[in-house]
Amino acid sequence: MERTKTRAAAAAARELRRKLGDQAVVTDAARLVELGGDKWFAHRQPDFAVFPRTSAEIAEVMRVTSEKRLPVTTRGSGYGYVGGCVPAIGGVVLGTQRMNGIKEINRADFVAVVEPGVITGELQSAVRRKGLFYPPDPASLQHCSIGGNIATNAGGPRCLKYGVTRNYVLGLEVVLANGAIVKCGGRTHKNKTGFDLVGLFVGSEGLLGIVSEATLRLLPFPPARAVLSAGFRDMRAASKAIRAMFAAGFLPAAVEIADRFTLEAARQFRPGNSFPPGDAHLLIEVDGQRESVHAEARSIARLLRAEKATAIERATDERSCARLWKLRRAFSESLRATGLKKLNEDVVVPRGRLVDLVDFARDLQARSGFPIACFGHAGDGNIHVNIMVPNDDEPEIQARAESALDELFAKVIAWGGAITGEHGVGLAKMRWWDLALSKENRALHQTVKGALDPQRLLNPGKFV
Ligand SMILES: Cc1cc2nc3c(=O)[nH]c(=O)nc-3n(C[C@H](O)[C@H](O)[C@H](O)COP(=O)(O)OP(=O)(O)OC[C@H]3O[C@@H](n4cnc5c(N)ncnc54)[C@H](O)[C@@H]3O)c2cc1C
Repeated sequence: MERTKTRAAAAAARELRRKLGDQAVVTDAARLVELGGDKWFAHRQPDFAVFPRTSAEIAEVMRVTSEKRLPVTTRGSGYGYVGGCVPAIGGVVLGTQRMNGIKEINRADFVAVVEPGVITGELQSAVRRKGLFYPPDPASLQHCSIGGNIATNAGGPRCLKYGVTRNYVLGLEVVLANGAIVKCGGRTHKNKTGFDLVGLFVGSEGLLGIVSEATLRLLPFPPARAVLSAGFRDMRAASKAIRAMFAAGFLPAAVEIADRFTLEAARQFRPGNSFPPGDAHLLIEVDGQRESVHAEARSIARLLRAEKATAIERATDERSCARLWKLRRAFSESLRATGLKKLNEDVVVPRGRLVDLVDFARDLQARSGFPIACFGHAGDGNIHVNIMVPNDDEPEIQARAESALDELFAKVIAWGGAITGEHGVGLAKMRWWDLALSKENRALHQTVKGALDPQRLLNPGKFV
């Protein structure tokens, strides 16, 4: 069976090389190793990789591979956190790296039309030069692709005010498992023709089709922003300040929280750039017109002082705002620099449960014996709970870590939360898939998958 599959893969690689050119097909073992993983722990080398340049070429790949019943796993930049682009049962990796063109930025329609391999940060810079704004801002934006963002429905700090990637996808071109090219949605900012097929493909983690082009919604670029960095005695005090801010009618663009372990790691990692004193930290951004931004930032600062902030730094020019965000974006790196293995869980709870989640993480830390670092998008209830485990493969440690994760996910689900707010299920969260959704909901996933990909060739070995 395995030998037949290898023969089929070799024949497919030859055929695709003939049809798409030598450059399009990679069979070199060292490169295939690189293409077998993402930023999570799983890895599997594909039989070969193919890098098409057009939608028609993707369709050709799908025709050849489906005829030979070869699995195909789409890969954007490989910056995922859940093993989503890992070819779990081998087969073919289809990379979108060579489809990285911005086809159009239209100031009249407020849309951008892009190929899937465009890097998110590059799109943001390109539209900004035209006075336009593409808000979704995953922390990985300098590396990850728009196709990957769409397939995972990526979020980021600015989701609080602006929403997730789904809110910016107006139209999609998708290549199905049988090679058919389907266009859904369009370039209008409203569209209620038929089912919401755009919504079906957004967040589908490469299991239903391959995004070959996207039409994205743009906004006018807000001319001003201000960032507040505030210290608090502890996470409870910081969470209470967030509640007070919402109660007073403020809707900042972003509200990010960080706990003591995260702050300590960041202070050690970047000693020159200290955070305000205290065991908890809030980073708050407001944006809009200059006068209103300045007035709002002043009012929020007053409110934070009333909520007993230990210190507040207010940045109103672009350079100082960027400096404060740079510190926030280094949290992941700082935690990794501790030498511990970071089990990063992007759980999300209903907003009202934020304090409960923080308390639960503190108790879980005591019970499990592992430090737990919490930081993230507090305004959305989407906190990255990082269980920091010793970096070795000892079975006892692994079992203890799994059991801590089981406890975390069970609690989050019991509160009406979700096991993933933005990274996706991939391979990392498969263990909790049955717990996360009802039997009927999982059966519906199977029905949709069966209808679009009856041979189950797209990204097999994952949660559906
Ligand atoms: C340091 C760091 C910080 C991060 N911060 C955030 C954050 O703030 N918010 C957030 O949401 N995520 C974050 N992530 C996770 C990750 O960056 C996102 O999931 C991102 O969307 C992945 O994009 P990618 O191009 O790297 O996709 P990949 O990792 O290559 O693929 C991800 C999934 O998308 C599928 N896919 C990729 N392209 C296509 C396509 N064209 N058509 C169909 N399916 C496709 C793959 O099969 C896979 O299932 C972070 C990751 C890192 C390493």
